[in-house]
Amino acid sequence: MKLWIGTDIEGVAGVVNREHTARDGREHDRARGWLTDEVNAAIAGAAAAGVTEFVVADGHGTCRNIFPDRLDPRARLATGQLSSLPPSAVQALDASCDAIFLVGFHARAGLHPGVLDHTSWSQTVSEVRINGAPVGECEINAAYAGELGVPVLLVSGDDVLAADIHGSMPWVRAAVVKRALGRFQAESLHPSLACARIREEAEEAIRDEAQWKSYQPSRPVTLELDFHHPMYVDLAVLVPGCRQTGPRSVAHTADDYLHAFGAFTAMCGVTGIAHYQHR
Ligand SMILES: [Zn+2]
Repeated sequence: MKLWIGTDIEGVAGVVNREHTARDGREHDRARGWLTDEVNAAIAGAAAAGVTEFVVADGHGTCRNIFPDRLDPRARLATGQLSSLPPSAVQALDASCDAIFLVGFHARAGLHPGVLDHTSWSQTVSEVRINGAPVGECEINAAYAGELGVPVLLVSGDDVLAADIHGSMPWVRAAVVKRALGRFQAESLHPSLACARIREEAEEAIRDEAQWKSYQPSRPVTLELDFHHPMYVDLAVLVPGCRQTGPRSVAHTADDYLHAFGAFTAMCGVTGIAHYQHR
């Protein structure tokens, strides 16, 4: 059995601030260690339930967060990113995987009091909707996996994320490692206990085959973005198939989610480049 583990860092126990998440943050290297430990805990739990093959995808910022030499040697590491594109925890996922975990994830943009809440390319994007419903990165990734027939079995992060996921994908197991108190504050489990919880939930998630369900939004699927500023709309509508739906909104409708996801990634990419040119 082959498991894909997509990772982020905002949802890791102890992480509450840009100092933890940014490449130049003073506590970033420590947070990278906590993330690596949580990923190893997920691998240990899944291995105890029979998983034999692991791919870990680093999906935050530069996608160079996990320490390769501290990662469980049973896993291969997908690290680094395509130039100028937003980071992704699923970009190289394929149908050879039997299931996916999402470790270290966070609440979607605007979901108070989620720790470090945002959705995807936070510099330009203020909300993402699938078929009209606001979604976070977990649903965006789960729909990508779902298109390939790969179910998301486990998500880890704060309690605000867990409650939101329970609404959108009630069959997905959540490992809650901290209680969100605000955008930059949390009551967090000790890292060792966070790892123990993830390990336990990971093992249960693999064993509980009755709950292996793919997240598949109805077709045709519409991915819609709200931008922080109307200038981004001028660029986003240049992506083939994209249309303006509001003063700051652009949508793409497709028969399969991979096409919509491709347009979404391109919209994030071109608006992100504009953001760095004009700030
Ligand atoms: Zn992130």
